[in-house]
Amino acid sequence: MIKSQAASLGFDACGFAAAVPVDDETTARYDRWIEQGHNGCMQWAAGHRDLRRDPSLLLEGANTVISLALNYYPARFQPDGTLRVAYYAYGRDYHEVLREKLTALAHFIEQVTQCSTRPCVDSAPIRERYWAQRAGIGFVGRNNCLIIPGKGSYFFLGEIITTAQLPPDEPCRLTCGDCGKCIEACPASALSMDGAADASRCLSCLLIENHSEELPAWVADVVGDRVVGCDECQLCCPHNAHAQATRIADFAPTDTVMTLTRGRIQSMTAGEFKRTFAHSAISRLRYKTLRRNATLNSTE
Ligand code: SF4
Ligand code: SF4
Repeated sequence: MIKSQAASLGFDACGFAAAVPVDDETTARYDRWIEQGHNGCMQWAAGHRDLRRDPSLLLEGANTVISLALNYYPARFQPDGTLRVAYYAYGRDYHEVLREKLTALAHFIEQVTQCSTRPCVDSAPIRERYWAQRAGIGFVGRNNCLIIPGKGSYFFLGEIITTAQLPPDEPCRLTCGDCGKCIEACPASALSMDGAADASRCLSCLLIENHSEELPAWVADVVGDRVVGCDECQLCCPHNAHAQATRIADFAPTDTVMTLTRGRIQSMTAGEFKRTFAHSAISRLRYKTLRRNATLNSTE
């Protein structure tokens, strides 16, 4: 019933995993990643390690983590001459869309099971891709995205932690095998065969999460016409060769995204930025960061 309700709410995948602590190997790998400074400017990733490890600390009596995925692959793309926005930020802020759907599903679960729920959409320290793999939805690729077999990686992830005891799905055991296409395609050499991404080099992280006035000089050489995020390691992935466009109208590109030129960004006031991107994930960049990004490879 829960899975069919998830499908009718528009979710593309839904799986259940027992809410036991994250396994030792995954935790050790994460700790190493932080110790090596590979979280870059994502300082938040170093905090709340106890909560990140144990979902029962996020909801007392938790028995199940429900992992859910929502397709955002666009049907229309930005035209030539615009500065490139990663697909995830084309339309309405996914936090809003996902939160609405997760909340609706959580209410349904509470009604049918009489159990407690806690929906999470970037709102709690939880290992999203780990739980998606445990819940059988897909596997984590060397591009560090969750790959759903037959569907690809252009999916938002969300979770509902619940005290309901639901039958766990079989974890996904697939891997990337010998493929290394994303490692070759990454313009910033941020990926490696061992699967550990260096966020201090990742353009997506630098353009979105790093708000310093200046970025390292090498970024200008590789950033190209990207202004919000980077999709290169997903575009090249064979699992995305047959990606299907999302059915969620909210994720369609806004007029602003379809006409986002350097001139448009440079002439935008702070107030205009706030109004224009009030319901867009681009608002998280901040006004100054968007303007900085627009000048990175500008020769003007
Ligand atoms: S998002 Fe771009 S820069 Fe970051 S790892 Fe992928 S290809 Fe490299
Ligand atoms: S491009 Fe290849 S190595 Fe990279 S995530 Fe896709 S399948 Fe894995």
